[in-house]
Amino acid sequence: MIHVADPASEDARRAKEARRAEDERWMREALRLADEASAAGEVPIGCVLVDSRGIVASARNAREADQDPTAHAELIALREAARVRGTFRLDDLTCYVTLEPCAMCAGALVLGRVRRVVFGARDAKAGAVVSLYGIGQDTRLNHTFSVTRGVLEDECGGRLSRFFAALRARGKK
Ligand SMILES: [Zn+2]
Repeated sequence: MIHVADPASEDARRAKEARRAEDERWMREALRLADEASAAGEVPIGCVLVDSRGIVASARNAREADQDPTAHAELIALREAARVRGTFRLDDLTCYVTLEPCAMCAGALVLGRVRRVVFGARDAKAGAVVSLYGIGQDTRLNHTFSVTRGVLEDECGGRLSRFFAALRARGKK
């Protein structure tokens, strides 16, 4: 029997691969910002907000430098995107972030009406998109976003575990 590939499923497979490659490309930018954060002594988390043309805003965690409990990468990037665009309605943006957003950031992504959220590592202790809550998926809120998880997960999570291992090692000295 001759196997003939179904052209429709072949197209779907190609589209999926292209999207994965695009997701990895932007996640690498977020990882670069996470590295900037750890070099500055911050927990390594980076975020880029992207539209169809490219990066609109990007940020890294700055909690220590700012001594601000809300200085998370996503929140800083959202504020910057709204400033650049001159509107809080950011409904054509995709958020790429190395760690699953917390309750505050997931809430802010709903308020900014972001279209899609892509994250690397899951956060079992504070993640509010899939781990502890389903903010962004809960239709009781007036906006939902689509979620893609696990993009460059090992690289995103590895930076966090190395950062905290180094902190613990320093603490023991
Ligand atoms: Zn957050």
